[in-house]
Amino acid sequence: MGVAVRDQLTGREHEIHARTVVSCQGPWAHAATCPFGAIGSVGLLRSVNLILPNAGLECAIGFPPRDDAGRPNTDRLLFAVPWHGLTMVGTWYFPSAEDQDRLTVSREELSSMLCELNSGFENWNFRGSDVLMLHIGQQPLHPSSRSGPQPIDAPLIAESDSFGGPRRAWIVQGEKWTTARATAQKAVEIIARHSGFELARSVSSRKPLYSAPQELAGFTASAGASASSDDDENLRYSLRHEMVRTLPDLLLRRTNIGAAGSPPPEVTKRISKLAASELGWNESERLRNVDAVHTHSMYPHASITDQI
Ligand SMILES: Cc1cc2nc3c(=O)[nH]c(=O)nc-3n(C[C@H](O)[C@H](O)[C@H](O)COP(=O)(O)OP(=O)(O)OC[C@H]3O[C@@H](n4cnc5c(N)ncnc54)[C@H](O)[C@@H]3O)c2cc1C
Repeated sequence: MGVAVRDQLTGREHEIHARTVVSCQGPWAHAATCPFGAIGSVGLLRSVNLILPNAGLECAIGFPPRDDAGRPNTDRLLFAVPWHGLTMVGTWYFPSAEDQDRLTVSREELSSMLCELNSGFENWNFRGSDVLMLHIGQQPLHPSSRSGPQPIDAPLIAESDSFGGPRRAWIVQGEKWTTARATAQKAVEIIARHSGFELARSVSSRKPLYSAPQELAGFTASAGASASSDDDENLRYSLRHEMVRTLPDLLLRRTNIGAAGSPPPEVTKRISKLAASELGWNESERLRNVDAVHTHSMYPHASITDQI
């Protein structure tokens, strides 16, 4: 038992032997790439947060969206959260995307999100052009939610033979919330009981989670499009120690430089040169990476935001 894996970055193949294999692929457990056969019976939905300019919030606030008559929708709660000098609002859920590799929202969906968030605060009047970024991903769909599409409310932990896959191969899929450690513990206990394994004492159950290394302290203060050459040490740290593969990876995930909208071309150019020298990109790879930042689907396209 075990898996044969191919590293997509190097093309190298490896065999990993194990008594039991657990796939924790999140929504990708549905894709053709799931080694145990996709979970066909569970659908997907799109989950979306909007990143907006700083609305001056001092703390996170939960609020129900209101209809045109000002009546609150008591089945729903949106959250507005101060986020790296900006404001994050969400989460909205929409039916699954047709193109799962390039997730986005339609103009109608964005318009309804703006109506709902503006209904929560008297002085809010955000428009399409205010949306700096979309945080968008897929989650497993609850099969029978009454208040529109909702993610599953408990983790899915199943041996893959119930989906037509092999035995001793398990699928663990997270739920609506990030409950990773609790889900992992539950999965290990179920699998051990089912397979007759003795469980050793967990070494991580009481281990504190450490915060970012000291050299990254204050990094988020440099978030946004104005990243200066003072940030180069932090960028080098990410490039060398955080498995950065692409420029969007660096600007949108490992740092917040791209969080306030697509960075100005001169910022992207400077940082792409740094990344090219650290990661050994040639000029055409560098230019491809620059293009990938400016056309990234996390930045709402003008054809969606115009006139909302
Ligand atoms: C927009 C949005 C907002 C959210 N907001 C919140 C929130 O405010 N609070 C909260 O608690 N939760 C929130 N969530 C939910 C949270 O992100 C999920 O519950 C959680 O990430 C699920 O964890 P997971 O480990 O099951 O899946 P994931 O986090 O999706 O992890 C699966 C991993 O498997 C990797 N993978 C897949 N296939 C392969 C393969 N073939 N080879 C190698 N790697 C592979 C993927 O790259 C990914 O890193 C939000 C989700 C979204 C999309």
